[in-house]
Order: sequence, then C-alpha cells, then structure tokens
Amino acid sequence: MKLSGKVAVVTGAGAGIGRAIAALFAREGAAVVVADVAPERVEQVVAEVRQAGGKAAGVVVDVSSEADVQRMVRTAQESFGRLDVLVNNAGIMDRFLPVAETPTELWRRVLGVNLDGPFFACRHALPVMLEQGGGAIVNVASVAGLVGGRAGAAYTTSKHALIGLTRHIAQHYAARNIRCNAICPGPVQTGIPMGGEPHGEALQRVMGLMQFSPRTGQPEEIARVALFLAGDDASFVNGAVLVADGGWTAV
Ligand code: NAD
Repeated sequence: MKLSGKVAVVTGAGAGIGRAIAALFAREGAAVVVADVAPERVEQVVAEVRQAGGKAAGVVVDVSSEADVQRMVRTAQESFGRLDVLVNNAGIMDRFLPVAETPTELWRRVLGVNLDGPFFACRHALPVMLEQGGGAIVNVASVAGLVGGRAGAAYTTSKHALIGLTRHIAQHYAARNIRCNAICPGPVQTGIPMGGEPHGEALQRVMGLMQFSPRTGQPEEIARVALFLAGDDASFVNGAVLVADGGWTAV
C-alpha cells in the first residue's frame, strides 16, 4: 500500500476524477477527507469508501470560500490527527467563452473555484504540513493550462495560474520536505458541466482539436497519476507538470 498511515484531503471528491482519487487513495491505505460542495455526493463517497473497508470523513465545502477551506483542513486534523496529502481537484468550466463575451461574474466564479480554492487550501494546509515536517500537494490543472485553445478565457487563465502556483510552492518549500506538483489531464470521461450554454464558435474550435485526441481517459487513469505524485515513489518529483492526455498535446 502506497499511502499507509497518511491522511489525504481531496477536493471535488464527490464525482469524476476526485471521486476516483478518493477511492484509490483509501484502497492504498490513506484516511481520506472527502470534500465537495454537494452534500449528497459527500455522503455517498464517504459511504462507498467505508463499505470498501477504507477510512473517510466528509466535509461540505465551497472551495472558493476561505472559511469553508479552513474548516476542511480542521476536519482532517480533528478526524485523523494530521494532514499529509492535499489534492486540489475541484474545478468548474466556463462555457468556452472568449474574453469579450465573458461576464465579470463568471470570470470571478471560475477563478474563485479553480484558483482561489487551491490557494486557500495550500495557505491553510501548508502550516500543518510544515509543523509535521513534510507533505505533498497535487493540483489538478488541465491541458488548458498549457495552451490557449482548449477552453474559454476564465478556465484557461485559472489553469495556467494554478501551474504557476504549483511551481512557486515547489521551489519555496522544497527544503522543508514539501512537494507540490500538477497534473494536466486531457479529456476525461466525467460529467463535468460546461457551466451553461457553450459558446458555439469556440466550442466548435475545441471540438476540431479533439480529432487529434487519440481517446478519452477514465477518471481512474488520472487517479493513478495522483497516487504516484502523492506517494514516496515521487520523492524526487517536485514542481513537475505531468501531462496525462493520451498524447493529445503531443500532436
Ligand atoms: P466533475 O464535475 O465530474 O467533478 C467535480 C466535483 O467538484 C463535483 O463533485 C462538484 O460537486 C465539485 N465541485 C464543484 N465546485 C466545487 C466547489 N466550489 N467546491 C467544492 N467542490 C466543488 O469534474 P471532473 O471532470 O472530475 O474535474 C475534476 C478536475 O479535473 C477539475 O479541476 C477539472 O478542471 C479538471 N479537468 C477535468 C477534465 C475532464 O475532461 N473531465 C480535463 C482536464 C482537467
């Protein structure tokens, strides 16, 4: 077991990639804090993990709220006494809207969840990890964090910035036994909502690029990458941006 005795917080653990990460981490021996904005999803994933013989605690949070995120970190400490791994996975899409058509409200919401969320979580988890003597952070970015044409303006910006945050944390805290890495998934089969009616022309352009995507990935394929980055197999991997897209951006 790769995560025996470790405590992991996974945001957006109620569905899709986060749910697969929570399940895999629990099977690998971690006690998992299942954090999600949807209460019924939290309840369900906690029950699934426990039924499979794992340890889990649930917490309902909107990661764009700093108070919620603080409560999430406290839940890890109160339920399991420590915090070794933080997976910033919760994320939302932006209807593929280009800049000129992006309402300020939507910009703030997408940046709030996709960027403020991971920032708040790192800000509150890092002091705990520093006091314990180490930890690992895994940020779920996207291939949209590497190039300009895979999503709308807000989502693309949020994922580019998340990669910047990842690298900053990696270099600053490396000497204190904290690693921070990012995963850039390509298209993965989940039910992630588009965030509303998508922008026709922009969506068409992304769909055009999809012809170069060899296939759609499964959430478990991203979970295995997260497991690698969270565990000791990645002891010398820090500040890495690991693309898991089946070769989509290699074309
Ligand atoms: P999903 O919608 O299937 O699951 C995301 C979960 O996050 C949901 O359970 C949702 O309730 C929760 N969530 C949403 N907003 C939240 C908030 N404010 N606070 C807490 N929880 C919140 O999405 P997914 O496809 O599994 O995506 C997970 C991550 O992977 C996201 O960051 C996404 O940007 C990234 N990603 C997904 C794909 C893909 O093709 N699915 C590709 C690249 C990157």
